[in-house]
Amino acid sequence: STGVETLEFQAEARQLLQLMIHSIYSNKDIFLRELISNASDALDKLRLESLVDKDLPADTTDLHIEIEVDREQRTLTVRDNGIGMSRDEVVGLIGTIAKSGTAELLRQLKESKDAAASQDLIGQFGVGFYSTFMVADNVTLVSRRAGEQTATRWESTGSGTYTIESVDEAPQGTAVTVHLKPEDAEDQLFDYTAEWKIRELVKRYSDFIAWPIRMTVERPAVEGEPDGATETEVTTLNSMKALWARPRTEVADEEYKEFYRHISRDWNDPLEIIHMKGEGTFEYEALLFIPSQAPFDLFTRDAKLGIQLYVKRVFIMDDCQALMPEYLRFVKGVVDAQDLSLNISREILQQDRQIQLMRRRLVKKVLSTVKDLMASDADRYRTFWQEFGRAVKEGLLNDFDNQRAILDISSFASTRDAEQLVTLAQYVERMKEGQSDIYYMTGESRSMIENSPHMEAFNAKGYEVLLLTDPVDEMWVEAVREFDGKQLRSIAKGQVDLDAEQEKEEDEPERAQQKEEFAPLLSWLSAQLAEQVKEVRLSSRLTTSPAVLVGDAQDMTPTLERMYRAMGH
Ligand code: ADP
Ligand code: MG
Repeated sequence: STGVETLEFQAEARQLLQLMIHSIYSNKDIFLRELISNASDALDKLRLESLVDKDLPADTTDLHIEIEVDREQRTLTVRDNGIGMSRDEVVGLIGTIAKSGTAELLRQLKESKDAAASQDLIGQFGVGFYSTFMVADNVTLVSRRAGEQTATRWESTGSGTYTIESVDEAPQGTAVTVHLKPEDAEDQLFDYTAEWKIRELVKRYSDFIAWPIRMTVERPAVEGEPDGATETEVTTLNSMKALWARPRTEVADEEYKEFYRHISRDWNDPLEIIHMKGEGTFEYEALLFIPSQAPFDLFTRDAKLGIQLYVKRVFIMDDCQALMPEYLRFVKGVVDAQDLSLNISREILQQDRQIQLMRRRLVKKVLSTVKDLMASDADRYRTFWQEFGRAVKEGLLNDFDNQRAILDISSFASTRDAEQLVTLAQYVERMKEGQSDIYYMTGESRSMIENSPHMEAFNAKGYEVLLLTDPVDEMWVEAVREFDGKQLRSIAKGQVDLDAEQEKEEDEPERAQQKEEFAPLLSWLSAQLAEQVKEVRLSSRLTTSPAVLVGDAQDMTPTLERMYRAMGH
């Protein structure tokens, strides 16, 4: 043993702990599900590790979770005999928060004056282990990594520091003991040492956990004699049924939601639940969720909680990227395949034919679910699009099989209405007589585009123009040429001569005269601007602006140029 060391929490961790201690989140109960969730993960990891490494010197004979209470001391312990943590892991995993976006979250929390909004933020982030400090004034964790000799004891009151020491004797796995706050002692609602309370919480939050959650309870020795002698009995509190294997009609909404929270670490309800079953040549069950809020790191991509892969109920891996394309990276869930090898590696996955077929079906199902949502619940669809639209549009660039399906569920800002987004189908339906193309313009903001000289002729004609302001818009418009036989055309590129036909007949003499009249000016301008522009020509598209810069049809837009420059090209 190396004695007791006192270490400091990382700054962000300290701030989050302060929030927990002052209970920003009103539902204290959830600390138990967070501990059980971690224990369950630890058991999954150990089983997997022992499958891969047959010589792992670990005991996997009776993997389980145990809850223990001491009513006198007012402590509750959640114990697992899973993978455990080494000393370095305890310091790294418990003393620090590795989640990206933590600093940003804390900044927003500080600024938020609205309690409900704060709850939303923190709930979306998920605080895991730290949630114990909502109920505890002291937390102790003892952990021994499977296969290692020495264990580690960690203890903290949730203020700036924690202590850590090595201990010689401890069972494999992790035990977390919370010492309940004295100020809650009189409140029945917070009596987390009461059997009824624990039963209720496990049932509500953790019933689907695949490992037994056990507790030793006291029973009257003689039935019907509650005041007589007692005996103890070990009981399993959860049903352990894999949710995805149960028929949809038998699963309550609440159960789906709890399961979602377990796998996503998101405390909010999911926006949409997709429960599907593949039958035939290869069988699988899938339970997918679309979150109701985009995570902080949707675009930085370092959080990795996507689809979990199971094979015949055995957890194989988190974030199986082979099952979902990048542009649907926000979809969470579980896929349980019947006929894959338990030893399948991430490298092989990408090439596996079954995985590819499953992925194809999952993607189609997600896209069709959103399409149904559009028709059935416009508000929820709007939420979806607002949160994830920017990611979904990336699919237009690289998922050609589903390009049409993605276009169908996409919606865009337009000149028609400042509030309402428009789908391409709606756009086409209300196209003006004589209009044959779908017009758009890309740019940095709505107002920049609206005030662009390019817009004048279109406004004059009453043609609707799509206003594309997301960076990804610059790119997908290059990949998508048409929708329903209508060309997608940028109003800032090439010759978009709205009146080309008409002009020839009616304005021919006038045009010719204008050309002659302005010839000296045009050639002077051409000479002056030779370095900057390719050509100077007389325009019929402007109504009030004197001049406009136009790109060639194949040119990059200014925003795209800026993006490439920013990326160092
Ligand atoms: P999350 O579960 O979202 O990663 P937590 O705060 O709940 O966040 O836990 C942080 C990390 O600590 C976990 O990712 C895990 O690596 C480690 N951990 C927590 N509890 C246990 C446990 N019972 N056994 C092994 N590792 C654990
Ligand atoms: Mg956790």
